[in-house]
Amino acid sequence: PEPDGSLVDLLTDAAGRFGPRVALDFYGATTTFTELADQVARAAEALRRLGVGPGDRVALVLPNCPQHVVAFYAVLRLGAVVVEHNPLYTADELDRQLTDHGARVAVVWDKVAPLVSGRGAVRTVVAVDLTSALPRLKRWALRLPLPKVRAARAAMTAAAPGAAAWSDLVAAAEPLPPAHPGPEAGDVALLQYTGGTTGVPKGAVLTHRNLRANAAQGRAWVPGLRDGAETVYAVLPLFHAYGLTLCLTFAVGIGATLVLFPRFDADQVLDAARRRPPTFLPAVPPVYARLATAARERGVDLTSIRYAISGAMALPPATVDLWEQVTGGLLVEGYGMTETSPITLGNPVAPTRRPGTVGVPFPSTDVRIVDPEDPDRDRAPGEAGELLVRGPQVFAGYWNRPEETAKVLLPGGWLRTGDIVTMDADGFVTVVDRIKELIITGGFNVYPSEVEEALRRIPGVREAAAVGLPTADGEEVVAAVVLDAAVGGTPEAIRTACRAHLAGYKVPRRVVLVEDLPRSQIGKILRREVRDQLLADG
Ligand code: ATP
Ligand code: MG
Repeated sequence: PEPDGSLVDLLTDAAGRFGPRVALDFYGATTTFTELADQVARAAEALRRLGVGPGDRVALVLPNCPQHVVAFYAVLRLGAVVVEHNPLYTADELDRQLTDHGARVAVVWDKVAPLVSGRGAVRTVVAVDLTSALPRLKRWALRLPLPKVRAARAAMTAAAPGAAAWSDLVAAAEPLPPAHPGPEAGDVALLQYTGGTTGVPKGAVLTHRNLRANAAQGRAWVPGLRDGAETVYAVLPLFHAYGLTLCLTFAVGIGATLVLFPRFDADQVLDAARRRPPTFLPAVPPVYARLATAARERGVDLTSIRYAISGAMALPPATVDLWEQVTGGLLVEGYGMTETSPITLGNPVAPTRRPGTVGVPFPSTDVRIVDPEDPDRDRAPGEAGELLVRGPQVFAGYWNRPEETAKVLLPGGWLRTGDIVTMDADGFVTVVDRIKELIITGGFNVYPSEVEEALRRIPGVREAAAVGLPTADGEEVVAAVVLDAAVGGTPEAIRTACRAHLAGYKVPRRVVLVEDLPRSQIGKILRREVRDQLLADG
């Protein structure tokens, strides 16, 4: 059954049931559910006085911090729409999104306020001062890829002209009266930009009903969680669909304590684990691998983590083994996309999970596997094809992009995922690759993930990205490879080693050794950037 009501109702319920319990922990500074609800009511009043009303978009440009959570619910409380942004975006990236959605009010990390003022339709910037956490945030910024660090540093040197201070506004406001009308289930809650892996991010329109339905599905997925007794670690960014839902709205829905990290740093997580042991950790595969290794090296006990939920990219079975050995808890993989609020399939959170697959469809979710050339034609059982999804979590369309929306939302409510998958006889789905990234060479289809997997099996290869580069009569497979510092190897040796695992036409024509591979904000390898780089280098 679909839940009625809004995301705000979930917070109100949590405040009623778990009032004195710690809702948020940020470097040891805590906020109870009662305090959180009170701050949200005051922040909502402050935003209302700035002119925010139902349906208005409000931009958030914040790292994970308590103010982020307060601002998120305050915007929703007014029936307005949250738009999340990566606070380390460059001025151009921010400008594109702010212009696209036209928010007039933005709540931002004070260091990036100058990048937001006056962009798009933004007229009011409210700056959040994170001074108390700044030493840590600085360290965070310094670890970023260079261009982003430069952008962040440049922003840090300029003070924001005319920005109001969030803490002053909230402290000065009376709480919004409970009788003030709030959002309804069918209202838009979130305009969430997609991950930007395959191109310019698109704004996905998600309603309260979409997000509530998905939260309820997630709850059913992890039945072992206890209301009012869990500690969730938010190492994923709240500005990405996955972190926003699996960490924040999920934690509030079960009255869990949410420990906020501005960025994943294994040492910070292990320090926090001694103080406030985590019980539930949603994250991406590299986080599990690094955290398990660091915990083992430092001798930190992570056995408090009973469940870990991985998504966004393929989870290597070796990571599952390592994680489960170190923590004794379960690591299961799910699948989803921003357009599905964001999860649609998951492995059972039980020993019956099948590593290497993304599991089975969520309750009240239907799937089909079809011919990508003709989505009316279903594939035969076991055959690879494009995954279509239908369910209450499927979004309402892309903001201001009717043509893009019509391409993915088919009659009958089916969403084209753009992903090629297979399904086994028991209904477990395996993701093969994205249609957009398929390489066509000499008339054959090559899935880059298959080439990358073969490359990663070669001793000394740490990471690899396979792409198609244009030739006179089609494309050829080219691979960018990162080697382990200690091992070494030559492109020719790597190509030779590939032949043991791949048919001739799949073996990369060229292997290029690189220091690093470009990654998205949540850590996916950006094949399109690899391709552009290889093209530019000739
Ligand atoms: P964009 O749509 O802007 O190019 P994106 O698709 O990466 O970016 P998201 O919505 O964050 O943006 O990611 C959804 C995609 O992530 C899915 O379509 C799928 O390709 C991939 N994905 C999600 N979960 C998994 C998984 N468990 N294994 C493999 N791929 C996954
Ligand atoms: Mg996508």
